[in-house]
Amino acid sequence: MAHTPGTLYIVSAPSGAGKTSLVKALIEQVSDVRVSVSHTTRAMRPGEVDGVNYHFVERGEFERMIERAAFLEHAEVFGNLYGTSEEWVRDTLADGFDLILEIDWQGAQQIRRLIPEARSIFILPPSREALRHRLNNRGQDSEEVIEHRMTQAVEEMSHYGEYDYLIINDDFRLALEDFKAIFRNRHLTVAHQQLRHAHLLASLLS
Ligand code: 5GP
Repeated sequence: MAHTPGTLYIVSAPSGAGKTSLVKALIEQVSDVRVSVSHTTRAMRPGEVDGVNYHFVERGEFERMIERAAFLEHAEVFGNLYGTSEEWVRDTLADGFDLILEIDWQGAQQIRRLIPEARSIFILPPSREALRHRLNNRGQDSEEVIEHRMTQAVEEMSHYGEYDYLIINDDFRLALEDFKAIFRNRHLTVAHQQLRHAHLLASLLS
């Protein structure tokens, strides 16, 4: 069946805003959406799986990938390198899948310049206290690290105005509905509907 190329969605949020949980729930409920698996030089956290959460690589290998121009975008975040593989993104979009990039504001700026039709979504926590609580709840970091992450979260959040959509993740269920609405909206455009309902349109107009 003919298809329109997929849409590229950028999703950014400060650590602790619930971005990963929202993306996970979205792809379970919305068809034809894929999530990009980034490359990173940061250490694997407990429970993470190589090739699933990230492709974990050494700094040297990452730098060689930069030289080969293998990344659509890449950035240094919290002292580690992160990047999105160009080939996989182009192939996935050409196959008609929508694609989510979970990247930071620096990567988002690079993607907007390269692919202006990409849509970007920023997710915010409902309050500063909730954010701090969520960072605490992870139980993986010391008080000092949490303080540091709060500062970094404010830095990330200061870029929300560069995005097309803003979701406040207070009630998870409602935030997920908002998130799904953005994808649904796109699928209702005339260009998409013309392809999906080609037979109907032809018969209605004959
Ligand atoms: P974490 O290490 O906690 O999984 O992610 C730290 C930050 O890096 C998050 O803001 C996340 O969105 C960002 N990030 C993850 N992958 C990429 C990527 O491929 N490119 C960019 N620019 N940022 C990324």
